[in-house]
Amino acid sequence: GMSMNLLQLENKNIVVMGVANERSIAWGVAKRLLEVGANVIFTYRKERSKGKIEKQIANYTEHKTAIVECDVNSDDSIAQAFETIGNEFNVIHGIVHSVAFAHAEDLRNRFVETSREGYAFAQDTSAYSLIAVAKAAKPYMTEGGSIVTMSYLGAERVLEGYNVMGVAKAALEASMRYLAADIGADNIRVNAISAGAIRTLAAKGVPSFNQILHKIEETAPLKRNTNQEEVADMTIVMLSHLSRGVTGETIYIDSGYNIMG
Ligand code: NAD
Repeated sequence: GMSMNLLQLENKNIVVMGVANERSIAWGVAKRLLEVGANVIFTYRKERSKGKIEKQIANYTEHKTAIVECDVNSDDSIAQAFETIGNEFNVIHGIVHSVAFAHAEDLRNRFVETSREGYAFAQDTSAYSLIAVAKAAKPYMTEGGSIVTMSYLGAERVLEGYNVMGVAKAALEASMRYLAADIGADNIRVNAISAGAIRTLAAKGVPSFNQILHKIEETAPLKRNTNQEEVADMTIVMLSHLSRGVTGETIYIDSGYNIMG
């Protein structure tokens, strides 16, 4: 249909990193990508996630898909994953970076207690990984492309219980901008989606998540929380031809919560 022509995602090769289960933000994006005719290459860290991805994509047999292991804490794993993807698909048109991790104690404890190791680990997994992935994918992004990463309001505001992850998201958003400035000359765009709170596996690590959801519902202009589908739809826009003039931006999909005092 016309909407698919506008998107120009049909038969494009998009790497989706970070599907752990059907609740993952990345799974919402992958589902939509398959619906608009893209080829989706999934990367996973844990074997358990691989099984869940296989189960989910069984309903989409008419599409070209692949599932590749990639631990973003390891340069070797990233290099190997993108070599495998490049050999099979030749060209990469887009990447969804939907990966983050911090030690539970660094979210639970007072911020002043943050350990050197916990800080470095959160940065490595949640911010540096975007740069490492862009570097590994770039040789295959020969037709230009779009990279989208997932951020959160805790990058800019102090949100209770977000702690070391907020600092990692601040670094992620800054890295996104520096990458956008650097690889824009290669016709590769880089943007961040700042998603509202959604109940996923990663969200389980954030204390008082229920209270956060409740506060958003009361305060946000739209008087409700966002969901996986809304975040997926804007991610599709940012991957597509529709957003071809946009790079280096953080886009909020949060019912407008971020504008409120
Ligand atoms: P999720 O737990 O489903 O996804 C997180 C993913 O990160 C998992 O698939 C996990 O395997 C992966 N991961 C962690 N360490 C990794 C590593 N070393 N190598 C490879 N993969 C690794 O949770 P989600 O909520 O879908 O999170 C996806 C992204 O969205 C994260 O960046 C998260 O911070 C961000 N985000 C989430 C929310 C929310 O409320 N859920 C809001 C804003 C932003």
